[in-house]
Amino acid sequence: MSTHRLTAPAPGWTATTDVVVVGSGVAGLTVALNVRKAGLRAMVVTKAMLDDGSTRWAQGGIAAALGEGDTPEQHLDDTLVAGAGLCDEEAVRTLVTEGPGAVRRLIAVGAAFDRGADGEILLTREGGHHRRRIAHAGGDATGAEISRALVDAVRSDPEIELIEHALVLDLLTDAEGRAAGLTLHVMGEGQRDGVGAVRARAVVLATGGMGQVFSATTNPAVSTGDGVALALRAGAAVTDLEFVQFHPTVLWLGPEAEGQQPLVSEAVRGEGAHLVDADGVRFMLGQHELAELAPRDIVAKAITRRMQEQGAEHMYLDGRHFGAEMWERRFPTILATCRTHGIDPVTEPIPIAPAAHYASGGIRTDGHGRTSVPGLYACGEVACTGVHGANRLASNSLLEGLVFAERIAADLTGRHLAGELPERTVDVAAARAAHPVPLPPSEARAEIQRLMSRGAGVLRSAASMAGTAAGLALLAEQAYAHVAEEKPADPRVETWEAANLLLVATALVAAAAQREETRGCHWREDHPERDDAHWRRHLITTLAATGGPVSTPEEQ
Ligand SMILES: Cc1cc2nc3c(=O)[nH]c(=O)nc-3n(C[C@H](O)[C@H](O)[C@H](O)COP(=O)(O)OP(=O)(O)OC[C@H]3O[C@@H](n4cnc5c(N)ncnc54)[C@H](O)[C@@H]3O)c2cc1C
Repeated sequence: MSTHRLTAPAPGWTATTDVVVVGSGVAGLTVALNVRKAGLRAMVVTKAMLDDGSTRWAQGGIAAALGEGDTPEQHLDDTLVAGAGLCDEEAVRTLVTEGPGAVRRLIAVGAAFDRGADGEILLTREGGHHRRRIAHAGGDATGAEISRALVDAVRSDPEIELIEHALVLDLLTDAEGRAAGLTLHVMGEGQRDGVGAVRARAVVLATGGMGQVFSATTNPAVSTGDGVALALRAGAAVTDLEFVQFHPTVLWLGPEAEGQQPLVSEAVRGEGAHLVDADGVRFMLGQHELAELAPRDIVAKAITRRMQEQGAEHMYLDGRHFGAEMWERRFPTILATCRTHGIDPVTEPIPIAPAAHYASGGIRTDGHGRTSVPGLYACGEVACTGVHGANRLASNSLLEGLVFAERIAADLTGRHLAGELPERTVDVAAARAAHPVPLPPSEARAEIQRLMSRGAGVLRSAASMAGTAAGLALLAEQAYAHVAEEKPADPRVETWEAANLLLVATALVAAAAQREETRGCHWREDHPERDDAHWRRHLITTLAATGGPVSTPEEQ
């Protein structure tokens, strides 16, 4: 049963479905399409337009053992190495063995991958992969093609109800504490306007990442960690929040740039572009056997170190040797984006710096996407299935969204056929009785982002994170003080998002401060070594009765 909820007006309208899916990226849309096959009604609720998530921005591609000589076992090995001792091997095995079939089913839905003259799917390499196993579409527009195909498919099924511009607020449960629906705010006109409730037999969270918790990120504006915040308030366990992957090569747009920044895909390095420093020196040589194609954390750290050594704000990615024809054919999106910002990769090296990219942690799930709250599922980037461990292997995330979405749909279908998915009665009174979380003003978003980038970014230490934690605590205190002074912030999209960002940021810093070691994408300057004796285990975060997040190390 939720003990906390966002401050919001009481629901003014109610809708009913069988399965309500929150989010319309690769994960959410795949769940919706697959539960429909069992005759269950599905409703997809999404914050902005259907294609406004990270999925459509994915460039490099989707990893699966599809090539000659490649096997799921080799994909498993590379994934486990990247995960730095914290992957759930069973979950990874599921990912890599079910992955090739899931990609073929995605093709059957309508996604067109790039193919060679022989008709075979073209495969490229990315960091941490010892083989060419990344399928791509439109050169570097893989996510856009996947999103297009899935959006077309859901739009052509009249039994999938789509609600756009709808911000989901909190979970509703029945008297036994089972997920029974959710509250949401629809920015529309007509019957479903303002705060309402959706009743459902099961709830699937597919709300994507939380990159907006940092100042510079590759994630779109909708990636504010809403699903993780909602799950925490609903009493669910989240895990591995400290493992935020910083993409090494994000186009550097100046010291003041904030929000979503353009990515220069790893595939550019996969095709042979070099990282060079301010003096033109290839600094990745000798640092790792894979040089520029080392796992992302290694590359991001090396870039950050070199930036510090040289007092530089960025490094360079040099792909001039590709020539114009290859840039135009293989990386048309990146080429166009760079040129829009006045940089021509054909004739000059691209200025790059690391930025927050991917949340390896999230809502803890089992192999069927079930969370610790009965009837609540999580899928895609918002979930922590255990496949990424301490660091995600490049291009495993679209695959994870696909594979575990299919598994959630299969679980729901099985339970439905077994009569284990009855209609639920929503306990609205209990939901209203939950403690309302005061909302920070909308300007808090930028302050949270600054605090996080300053103290909990690529480089972390106890001191840097103490400053960030104190700043976040002050923002929370101010929100409570404004309520006490009867000057609370208005409940609206910006303040609800700010409240979610604040909770997620606080939970992330608490976990990162507790993990006194360096592992995967979590880099502690004051604890530079990996410490398996104490830390080869997960931190499980839940919400305390007071409303603050508490992280507990899992039993070893
Ligand atoms: C620039 C970029 C490049 C990438 N490249 C690759 C790549 O090459 N290969 C790869 O495997 N991965 C890549 N990734 C990661 C990958 O794209 C994401 O992890 C994946 O697409 C996440 O899919 P998802 O369905 O979980 O979430 P998303 O696609 O992010 O969708 C989340 C959805 O939830 C909605 N939502 C969020 N909060 C709410 C709320 N409160 N109420 C209602 N709706 C809500 C959003 O509007 C959105 O529709 C990349 C990511 C980025 C940003």
